[in-house]
Amino acid sequence: MSMNNQGRPTNISDAPQIDAALSVNKSFTGNKALQIEESLIFEIGDFNGTGVDIPDLQGVPTRLGGLERNDVIGLPGLAEPETMRHFVRLSQKNYAIDMGPFPLGSCTMKHNPRLNEKMARLPGFGDLHPLQPETSVQGALELIDTLAHWLKELTGMPAVAMSPKAGAHGELCGMMAIKAAIDAKGEGETRKRVLAPESAHGTNPATAAQCGFKVDSIPADDTGRVDLEAFRAKLGPDVAGIMVTNPNTCGLFERDIRAIADAVHEVGGYFYCDGANFNAIAGKVRPGDLGIDAMHINLHKTFSTPHGGGGPGSGPTVLSEALAPYAPIPFVVNDGNGFRLVETRAAAAETKKSEGVDSFGRMTAFHGQMGMFVRALAYMLSHGADGIRQAAEDAVLNANYVQTRLRKEMTTAFDGYCMHEALFDDVFLKGTGVETIDFAKAMIDEGYHPMTMYFPLVVHGAMLIEPTESESKRELDLFCDALLSLAVKAKSGTQTQMFKAAPVHAPFRRLDETGAARKPVLRWQAEQDSKAAE
Ligand SMILES: *Cc1c(COP(=O)(O)O)cnc(C)c1O
Repeated sequence: MSMNNQGRPTNISDAPQIDAALSVNKSFTGNKALQIEESLIFEIGDFNGTGVDIPDLQGVPTRLGGLERNDVIGLPGLAEPETMRHFVRLSQKNYAIDMGPFPLGSCTMKHNPRLNEKMARLPGFGDLHPLQPETSVQGALELIDTLAHWLKELTGMPAVAMSPKAGAHGELCGMMAIKAAIDAKGEGETRKRVLAPESAHGTNPATAAQCGFKVDSIPADDTGRVDLEAFRAKLGPDVAGIMVTNPNTCGLFERDIRAIADAVHEVGGYFYCDGANFNAIAGKVRPGDLGIDAMHINLHKTFSTPHGGGGPGSGPTVLSEALAPYAPIPFVVNDGNGFRLVETRAAAAETKKSEGVDSFGRMTAFHGQMGMFVRALAYMLSHGADGIRQAAEDAVLNANYVQTRLRKEMTTAFDGYCMHEALFDDVFLKGTGVETIDFAKAMIDEGYHPMTMYFPLVVHGAMLIEPTESESKRELDLFCDALLSLAVKAKSGTQTQMFKAAPVHAPFRRLDETGAARKPVLRWQAEQDSKAAE
């Protein structure tokens, strides 16, 4: 069996008996009940026909100066109802948070309240253009400023960069601010090392490397947290900073966070906190009180703006007093004459505050993801400070409920309670022939989107489950019952074939995910297709 670089098996062999059983029931069309097998639009379209026939123009001189198309355009020809059905059927193949639980750990797939959507569609927000004069967008600027205020309050930090457009982009913003601060001290050539725990999300080392730092990984101790002694041993005058996620990617609060902050500051480094898991502690803990210098907040996780399928996300980054001068521009101020954008270092200096006076520049063309700002603020205002705290408490309660129930048949990677997500390993599958990937695929046949698999890398065959606060006890019980029944089946050792063949009820069986990632075919080409068929 081949493995990808995360130790995840690819090319699983099918179980012949199950294949035989399924082929007896195969339909003539390939459709399954009212689930229609969907071809590529190019395969169903006819290049010689279109939905609309426009007669050739007669007697009208061309004004294209020889640039007219002299080839066929190559669009698939379909009637309007055929086109519509194709796209609607495709859209229905998407599993969505509005259809069922999405237990992906680290992703915080929570309910997106419809109220947020309604607010984002108000014409005054939805129809804005980023080049409008400031006098015509006072409300929008006020909204950005109000959201910035909430984020600073919740994190206890003095400055926030609103423009980063995803968590990873926020990391880049924070690390660029750290780099600018180091360069300003004349230490750019000597401070080159960034420490990051082994369990870090892949974007952390990638961001550090992108900023020209060398990444040095810190091992975890046997409670799943930063090994404090190993961390201290790595400190030195060449350390630019540390990147720590808190709660970490094992779903655990880093208890030594203050000691880590003090130690890294002592050697002249900075503390970047990956705030993707802020939803577990919002309203309970202020990162500013923990000695953090920079932290991104995923509005699309913590504050319920939709995500998945590629965005758009939003990753505002809060900055400490030490890093505020290097904050990116633009940012919003209100100096009594209404709201305006500060777009240069000189304009930042005029505000008489430290933010942006030595700005490292811009992260993006304009001011950030306006639609996400509206949704996030709507979520905050409808919950209030106490509601945000309760959302965090309920997320942690739900995760511990799932952890406690599933521990009856599954094995957790670490002892004790968890924060907002529960981490299981594959010890309970040992000797059964069933692996994490088979277990996850069998969940699809039970109608569940699998949890995050094989991440974090520090746990063998990891299964990371994050229910979020959105799920009711009834939903959680059904989910736990389904997983418990799968665990019992797997451990019985009698149904390994079923697990190896799963999913059998999905439109497609096992796909070569590694192949799709490594050798993506992003364009349909007629010739290639016929060659492949030969
Ligand atoms: C989601 C996530 C990120 C990256 O956020 P994006 O918005 O997807 O770029 C970084 N770190 C952790 C721990 C995450 O869960």
